[in-house]
Amino acid sequence: MKITALAGGIGGARFLRGLTQSEKVTREVDVTVIANTGDDIWVHGLRVCPDLDSIMYTLGGGISAERGWGREGETFTCKDELAIYRVEPTWFGLGDKDLATHLIRTTSLNAGYPLSEVTQALCDRWKPGVDLIPMSDQRCETHVVVDHPETGARVAMHFQEWWIRYGATLPAHEFIQVGLDTAQPAPGVIDAINNADLILLPPSNPVVSIGTILAVPGILDAIRNASAPVIGLSPIIDNAPVRGMADACLRAINVETNAAAVARHYGSRSNGGILDYWLIDQRDSDSLGEIEELGITARAIPLLMTDVNSAGAMANSALDLVLGN
Ligand code: GDP
Ligand code: CA
Repeated sequence: MKITALAGGIGGARFLRGLTQSEKVTREVDVTVIANTGDDIWVHGLRVCPDLDSIMYTLGGGISAERGWGREGETFTCKDELAIYRVEPTWFGLGDKDLATHLIRTTSLNAGYPLSEVTQALCDRWKPGVDLIPMSDQRCETHVVVDHPETGARVAMHFQEWWIRYGATLPAHEFIQVGLDTAQPAPGVIDAINNADLILLPPSNPVVSIGTILAVPGILDAIRNASAPVIGLSPIIDNAPVRGMADACLRAINVETNAAAVARHYGSRSNGGILDYWLIDQRDSDSLGEIEELGITARAIPLLMTDVNSAGAMANSALDLVLGN
């Protein structure tokens, strides 16, 4: 069996760790992960790919359990030194161990290797147990249009500056994917969608993770037309993002922060959208009828990923619902 998942960083990675460690995912199951690279950024001359790294470190056992991003047992000596030089961006979290990953990636990219191959090479060490593919080999970054906090002028800033430096508190007028027009899906992306037996949308940010991946030319159409069923898990529980600031992203695209509104935003495949199934949290069971009316099969289960087992249980429920048990 082939499972293909689209994923952002923390939400995606935690769910995928549950999936790959679930007893239903045996050695006969191949999992391919198409990761968001819209968050990627050049920092101090280094190419940083936060979502690829969160997935790689989480599945490879190197993630910081406390922060949910970057490495366990990390130090920030280099970041502190750069801050003493007052070199911006001082707000970006660059750990010393993490720097090695960015150095290797940057050197390889500069030597001409595409990001998909560099990612594969990094995964030789981490052995995430999945095929991890960036959504595109081309640079395609999410920028956010805001009113500048000091001058009030309408400006676009990199997503990471909006997210980390300003904590997503500046109201976003719009998200722009710079480079999208000429971006293509990375090698293997469309095949992974076409050849899948099951397509999964983990509880990732619907706007700047899943939405970004779907915007790469060709990916949305491939999912709409795939022969495999598509099941998503809600990243919104009880009208709130569980971690992170997805509500600020949803507001910018006029989607309410609730599980049914996100389902409506994705739409039913029977109606030109991308979902056949949508799992929501038990606390949102009141909206099951509303989601079913969209033509999407919905169930309410516990969706809080407190540990590997709870994420594994969510993955099992998703597989049971689509494939029967
Ligand atoms: P990011 O790239 O690190 O922002 O990670 P993702 O896009 O993969 O996922 C972030 C989203 O995951 C957040 O906006 C939350 O809405 C969602 N999320 C995080 N933890 C949980 C959880 O335990 N349960 C559910 N259902 N969603 C979660
Ligand atoms: Ca991200």
